[in-house]
Amino acid sequence: MGSVGAKDVPQLLDANGKRIDGRGLEELRPLKIEAGVLTRANGSAYVEWGENKVMAAVYGPREVHPRHMQENTKAVVQCRYNMASFSVDERKKPGLDRRSQEISKVISEAFESVLFVEEYPRTSIGIYIEILQANAGTRCAGIVAASVALADAGIPMSDLVPAIAVGKVGGKLAVDLRKEEDNYGEADMPMALVPKSGRLVLLQMEGHMTAPEMAQALEMGVRGCQQVYEVQKDALKRRYAIQRPTEAV
Ligand code: UDP
Repeated sequence: MGSVGAKDVPQLLDANGKRIDGRGLEELRPLKIEAGVLTRANGSAYVEWGENKVMAAVYGPREVHPRHMQENTKAVVQCRYNMASFSVDERKKPGLDRRSQEISKVISEAFESVLFVEEYPRTSIGIYIEILQANAGTRCAGIVAASVALADAGIPMSDLVPAIAVGKVGGKLAVDLRKEEDNYGEADMPMALVPKSGRLVLLQMEGHMTAPEMAQALEMGVRGCQQVYEVQKDALKRRYAIQRPTEAV
């Protein structure tokens, strides 16, 4: 692999301020969510967000494995984020690398603060996120899928959790970065929100932004999360409508 020279860096914004896929700065990639797609999991959801394809499955509350991780006062939230080998351009080595472990940890913590874990002491709530196809923003797509899967499993929680990455590309703040923007942009800030309380349950940052830019990025992220939230709620409403018997026998 050669090093990337300045001539190889794609132009992230054109003269009209449009991004490489023609989007505006606050425009999300197309987002589709389907709830209840797996029969063996307690809850599940499939998300297509731009070129990202993500499956989330939820099990529990159930027995804790390994046993020593059991907590007497609350359920433990165990998330496993995994990127399939075929999900990225260059085959990814299978298994949990450092990045996957970090993402699994921050997603577990995000959900632990939203789920009513005290109601289920000595149990585990397992969240499995499989990235089938990746094009930046997969941790956010994973959170979006997992929160619909948790609701589909009927696990009590204070709210759904929409998520989105806000970044800086070509000197401008933009939401929902795609891979080239993530790779060559100046900053990438994934965030996850609890809309009812306005609380952030995940906030990470790679790159550089000024303090005023960060304040603006947070506002853009909240607006983006509101849009994602509507699609999440719609997926659950459709799931409920399908399950309801249409006619009395
Ligand atoms: N990526 C990759 N190989 C890897 C990890 C990441 O090709 O081993 C790509 C993938 O498209 C991913 C993007 O780089 O979505 C950005 O990764 P990042 O770590 O920023 O996480 P994400 O934005 O997916 O949450």
